[in-house]
Amino acid sequence: MRQAYINLHMPFTQNNAFIIEDGHFTLVGRKGTILRQNIDEIIDLQDKTILPAFHDSHMHLLGLGWQRSIFDVAKLNSIEAIQATGKKRPEQFIMGRGFHEQTTEEKRTLNKQDLDAISTEKPIVIYRACGHVLFANSKAIEMALALQPKFTSEWFDEGIFKEEDMDFIKAIFPTPSLVEIKGYILNAQAHLLKNGITSVGSDDYHIFETVPYETVKKAFKTLVDEGRLKLNVLEQVNLPKIADLKDYLKKGYAHESYGTFTEGPLKLLADGSLGGHSAYMKAPYADKDTKGIEIFNQAALKERIELARSKRMDFAIHAIGDQTAETIIDIKASFNDDPLAYRDSIIHAQLCDTAQIKRMGELNLGAQTQPIFLNSDIPIIEERLGARAQKTYLFNTMINEGVLTTLSTDAPIEDVNPFENLYAATTRKSIKHPDYPPFLKEEAIPIRQALKAYTITPAYFAYKSKKIGAIKKGYEADFIVVDHFNPQNPKSFLKTDVLKTFHAGRCVFEKA
Ligand SMILES: [Zn+2]
Repeated sequence: MRQAYINLHMPFTQNNAFIIEDGHFTLVGRKGTILRQNIDEIIDLQDKTILPAFHDSHMHLLGLGWQRSIFDVAKLNSIEAIQATGKKRPEQFIMGRGFHEQTTEEKRTLNKQDLDAISTEKPIVIYRACGHVLFANSKAIEMALALQPKFTSEWFDEGIFKEEDMDFIKAIFPTPSLVEIKGYILNAQAHLLKNGITSVGSDDYHIFETVPYETVKKAFKTLVDEGRLKLNVLEQVNLPKIADLKDYLKKGYAHESYGTFTEGPLKLLADGSLGGHSAYMKAPYADKDTKGIEIFNQAALKERIELARSKRMDFAIHAIGDQTAETIIDIKASFNDDPLAYRDSIIHAQLCDTAQIKRMGELNLGAQTQPIFLNSDIPIIEERLGARAQKTYLFNTMINEGVLTTLSTDAPIEDVNPFENLYAATTRKSIKHPDYPPFLKEEAIPIRQALKAYTITPAYFAYKSKKIGAIKKGYEADFIVVDHFNPQNPKSFLKTDVLKTFHAGRCVFEKA
C-alpha cells in the first residue's frame, strides 16, 4: 500500500507532499513529483501543518499513568481546598501528587497536621510536585513505623519525608498488579499520543518500591504481544541496587528489543531537586544551610556505570546540582573512551556552568534538558541560588558549545505538552507565572534548534540503527497534523492543537 499525502505545509522546507509505504516515508518532495509516482491512495491534508512527531527523551510512563489516576492537588490553590476535596475521596488509602507551596494561598509547605485534618483513620500521602518530597499523615506514619520501628529523620515530626527518607513511607504503599501496571502505561500512552508524542525515553523500573523490575518489563512485553503499545519506548534502566543491576546484566537484558520496546541506557538518580533543596551543590544554597543530598558518591556511581559498561550500555544520569554534574563529567572523562563510541548523557544538567558545558561538548556527553521546569521554578531560582542563578538553565549555551541537547518534560513532574515546553524553551517564560520576566533571555533556543532537540537529537541518543525523528526518505512515518502553529510566534504554541498523530504510518490519535 503506497499512500500519498499531499497539500501539506512543513515549516522550513518547500516540500508539500510525501509517500508512505510499510510504515516509512519512501519519498518526500513537491506535490507534482509525488503525484507522478505509482500510488494506491491520495490523502489531501488541505494545507495543514505537519511536524515530525515529538520524542520526549526523559519521562516516566508508569509514573505518569499512575499519577493520572490518583488525587491531583496541583490545581487546588489552597491547603484548605486540598483538605475539603481530600475529605470527599472514596479510597481507603489516599495518595496524592502535585503539591507546590508557591501555588497555594498559604504559601507554605504541607505537614502532618494538615493531612490529619482530612482523616486520621485512613493513611494519606501527598507528593510535592517535584516528586522528591512526600508528606504523610499520622496514620501513614504509624503504619510505616510498625514495619520500621527505629526510623527517624530531621522532619519526622512534621510528617515531611525527602529523597531516600521517602522509602520509609513508600514501604506501606499497596503493590500494583501486572494488570494495573499495564493500565497505567496505557493511560500515559493515550495522553502522549494526544499530545503528538510517539517516542519516549522512559524510566519505569524503580517507580514502585515493591514491584520487581521484571514485572514492569513483562507489562511492556505483554502490551507489545497484544498489539497495544503504540509508542517507541526506550527504557532508561533505573536499577540503583547493585544486585538488581547484576541480575539484569546476567540475564542478557542489555540492549534487548521487543517490538517497539527497547532496553536503553543505565539510568540513576544521583541527586534531588532545586525546589526540595536536595540537588547536590558545590556551595550551600542561598536560602538554607545545606549543599543538598548526594544520593550516590563518585565511587558508587562509577561502580554501577562500570558494570553497565561491561555490557556496552550507555548511561543517562540524573544530575541537577553542579557538584553532581561535575562528578558525572569526571567519571565520563576517566573512561577515556572514543567520544563517539557511547551516547551518554546527563539528565537535567540544570546548573551546569560554562566550564562544565565546554567539557561536556569535548567528551560528547549529552544533556537531556527540561525548559518547562522554568514553569514552576521561575519564582524560586534566585531565592535558592542568589547570584549563581545567572548561571543556570544554560540550554542555548549548550547547543552553541556543541553539546547534543534534547528537550523533555520529566513527566509527571511537568505535563508532557511539547508546545508548552517549546514555549518555555524559546521564550524562557513561565506559563504558570506569566508576570515574571523571561529568565536569562539570551538562553532561549531558536525554534528550529528546539524542534531538532525534540525529534532528531533524542533519536540519536536512543537508537543506533532505527531511523526516526525526521520527515525524510527511509525514516519511520511518525508525524503529526497541527493547527494554529506558527514557528515565528511562540504565543501561537500555547494555542496549537494536535489534530492527528501518526506512528509508523498509522493514525494512532485523532482529535474528536
Ligand atoms: Zn525523571
